[in-house]
Amino acid sequence: MSSLDGMIVIGPNGIGYNKVRKMFNARFDKFPSLEILPRNDDEAIRAVDFAVKNRMRLRVKSRGRSYEGFDAADGQLMISKVLMKGVKVDSVRKIAQVEAGEVMGDVNKALAKFDRFIPPSALATSMSGNICGGFSYLTRKYGLTIDSLAGVDMVVANNANQLPVLVHANATTNPELFWATQGGGLNVPGFITRLHYRLHPLVNVSTFLLKWTLNSSTNFNKLGQVLGVYQFWGSEVTRDLTSSFAITNTDARAIGMFVGSKEKLRRILQPLLDTQPDIVEIEPPTSIQNAFDRIITQDIWYQTMTMKDQLFFKNTGVFISRVFSSSEIEAIVEQFTVAPSGSFLMLNALGGAVGDRTTAESVYGHRNAKYAIEISNSWEQPVSNRAERIAWVNNLRRSIERTRVKEAYSGWVDLLLEDPDEQYYPTTLERLRRVNEKFDPLDLFGQPQTVQDC
Ligand SMILES: Cc1cc2nc3c(=O)[nH]c(=O)nc-3n(C[C@H](O)[C@H](O)[C@H](O)COP(=O)(O)OP(=O)(O)OC[C@H]3O[C@@H](n4cnc5c(N)ncnc54)[C@H](O)[C@@H]3O)c2cc1C
Repeated sequence: MSSLDGMIVIGPNGIGYNKVRKMFNARFDKFPSLEILPRNDDEAIRAVDFAVKNRMRLRVKSRGRSYEGFDAADGQLMISKVLMKGVKVDSVRKIAQVEAGEVMGDVNKALAKFDRFIPPSALATSMSGNICGGFSYLTRKYGLTIDSLAGVDMVVANNANQLPVLVHANATTNPELFWATQGGGLNVPGFITRLHYRLHPLVNVSTFLLKWTLNSSTNFNKLGQVLGVYQFWGSEVTRDLTSSFAITNTDARAIGMFVGSKEKLRRILQPLLDTQPDIVEIEPPTSIQNAFDRIITQDIWYQTMTMKDQLFFKNTGVFISRVFSSSEIEAIVEQFTVAPSGSFLMLNALGGAVGDRTTAESVYGHRNAKYAIEISNSWEQPVSNRAERIAWVNNLRRSIERTRVKEAYSGWVDLLLEDPDEQYYPTTLERLRRVNEKFDPLDLFGQPQTVQDC
């Protein structure tokens, strides 16, 4: 038996047990056999060793933002990174060392003091949770969050008879492991304790919100026209601009950030302005932090999800690498005339810098995608039509997938996907399997939908 002496360990009757196991998605409620909260590398090694010696399955949890509650399982060990905090900046090499339990929004606030930033993804999720990819409103200019990763420190257990070890992986040391970490998401074959990022000089950005009201059939007809214009624009426009286009039950909105002036942004927005949105807000350059503070109040995603402590939701996603035909647009619009309350569909524009890298460089396999489309339904209290809401989300995904190569984002895990391995890693699956078998031969880190399924 391995010893956890001096470590923070919480059993089912312990104080704080429910707080640590709490999941963001209230549809899930799981009861781990034990919660271990390591504070440093040594404790992380001992926590993993405890699982090996006691032949226990384990789950790694940081912010608990997994869409399907994968960060905990009944009767399994949970290792929570919530206490692994800290950001160190090497101003000469322009690298930051970030402890795995840090949260994206907090890290960029700390880096602003050094006039630097990491291309953000979710503000509220953990840095290590972002290893699935990470896109947001600066992605077309700076790439995915994983594209700025310079290395990771990870505890791996590749021999049941030896103590787990802390390994470093970067482009030259353990390059296969590093490859798998950049986009591997739930398939990372170890416990990441620290991430090393290349930092970018801070810039100011302009922002915009365009909104079209949807309260009559005329508006819904117009929605098809606006979506038709947006889809040719969002992923082809200058890479200095990253945007999203969301359809909700009551409106459609295009939102984005632009590295440049307000005047230039207005000119670039002309094709969308020509469709005569009901609301037009174009704001002058400000810090990235202020820009996110603005966008948080405008973006349906942030309004619905990010600001909450817990929420019931069913989300899913699909990447598309060719735009919709007019009949496909009609079908989407039709779905919104019957959508349950709390629904949205959001096109997140990709292209630009995302396409500059290849799958030989990272496991993330959706480099050609024009958009990552997210479909969501959420509710704040238990509802009687939960099944109908989940079915609406799933049916819309399937109808979009019907005419395309099916690709899904491993950051938006979905238990209803028909073929998750192929969908998460369309071009990189076999190589990822080999890395996982080498570094996690005990399948210690397996969870639903990992390539070594448990
Ligand atoms: C509110 C919200 C906002 C989001 N916004 C965005 C966004 O803007 N852009 C985007 O790209 N995605 C976004 N996502 C998706 C998000 O990036 C993924 O859900 C991510 O996995 C969440 O990470 P977490 O650490 O917060 O969650 P957790 O549930 O704690 O972890 C998720 C999984 O990551 C793995 N993992 C986490 N830490 C480690 C570690 N140290 N070592 C090994 N494996 C680990 C585990 O397999 C775990 O099951 C968002 C999700 C939510 C719920």
